[in-house]
Amino acid sequence: MTDSRSALPAVHKLLAEAEQHGLTDSAPRDLVVGAIREALDSARERGGVPPSDSWMTDVRRRLERKQKPSLTPVVNATGVVLHTNLGRAPLAEVAREAMVRTAGYNNLEYDLETGDRGSRQTHVRDLLREVTGAEDAIVVTNAAAALVLALNTVANGGETIVSRGELIEIGGAFRIPAILEKSGTVLVEVGTTNRTRLQDYLQALSARTKCCVKVHRSNFRLSGFVAEADTAELVQAMAPRDIPVIHDVGSGLLIDLTSYGLAGEPLVQDSLEAGATVIFSGDKLLGGPQAGIIAGSAAVIQQMAVNPLTRALRPGKTVLAALEATLALYRDRETALRDIPTLAMLTAEPGSLAARAQSLASRIPGATTEPGTSSVGGGSFPDADLPTTLVSVATDHPDAFLADLRTQTLPVIARADDGRVLLDPRTIHDRDVDDVVAAVVSAQNR
Ligand SMILES: *Cc1c(COP(=O)(O)O)cnc(C)c1O
Repeated sequence: MTDSRSALPAVHKLLAEAEQHGLTDSAPRDLVVGAIREALDSARERGGVPPSDSWMTDVRRRLERKQKPSLTPVVNATGVVLHTNLGRAPLAEVAREAMVRTAGYNNLEYDLETGDRGSRQTHVRDLLREVTGAEDAIVVTNAAAALVLALNTVANGGETIVSRGELIEIGGAFRIPAILEKSGTVLVEVGTTNRTRLQDYLQALSARTKCCVKVHRSNFRLSGFVAEADTAELVQAMAPRDIPVIHDVGSGLLIDLTSYGLAGEPLVQDSLEAGATVIFSGDKLLGGPQAGIIAGSAAVIQQMAVNPLTRALRPGKTVLAALEATLALYRDRETALRDIPTLAMLTAEPGSLAARAQSLASRIPGATTEPGTSSVGGGSFPDADLPTTLVSVATDHPDAFLADLRTQTLPVIARADDGRVLLDPRTIHDRDVDDVVAAVVSAQNR
């Protein structure tokens, strides 16, 4: 009886060979040993068959895979602007630069004028006041955390009134009832799924009521026989009882996009003007880094600032740098629409998208263009179908084609439909077009 496994080389022999090939010069020894063991394991799984090329080629390939960063840039050719799986909002050029510029030592919590300790919030507070009109604001890691912090600060140990029509799930296990519970407040449901009136909130008031929450139905729309309490009216009704109204608006829209056919998302400024404490994401329509922003009256924000949870949820230096740079772009409407990629992509002219599609298609053998739709994504403007022009590439094996695109050095994420692969120029940056062409041509030739 011969055991085919005995034919496999020993680890130390392959390691000696790897040394001769210089593999241990470019990678830590333990990593090389790990790659060798993987290569041997894989050969054993094949019943003792050595790699088809050579042991060293196999080991080198495994080593390269181990050394490649896991988190890596991709091209979003899906046309979903705020793609949750692809990092949501791509950052503006100035925001990227700000992250690199502040990556080392910086004045994160240091007052350069006095030489005293400062607060990391100061770097964005004034800009948030300026662009939203809020009296004060505070930034944490994301909007989900912001809601927990806000509720825990104002409603811990008491009751929070929420409309039954807003007990929603945003995605990724973010459910309003669960968030309330974790924040230490008891949920008091009012109204019905489709209709809730101001009177419903008033009838639910008790000595234990600490807060009312309104949550924007980000990822779906209710239509037909529906009603909800107006935020300003709710704030006014609660004010004499000193009960704050927290409005989770989700996407952080700061510029009205109705003239671009995008309606239905609440403007942060409107909700603040109504007197609510407003919560929104940094990396949805706002177009900045992942962050959660709470804006509102100085008194309420000050309460949040001294909650120990704020320390647990604080944003990092590079996030604050990117947020500051992004917010500064909002000082001028035209600049924001041009330089914040999320807004630029959402407001791209159909004619310019058609031209970009034509130009891309002309460089890919056999490619054609066709009308299609892009979507906003990120649970924003769920109804909006943005007209676009798609580049269409016919293929008999769409799944294999998509897999080929995904495994390029710069992975390209596209979609397939009915025997063709579709690329939406709306979300493809100009600087990536050469790579996209190369990826598609390579997938065609497989
Ligand atoms: C997206 C969203 C959230 C969660 O925001 P994150 O920044 O992802 O934590 C919360 N509330 C609403 C209404 C949302 O749309």
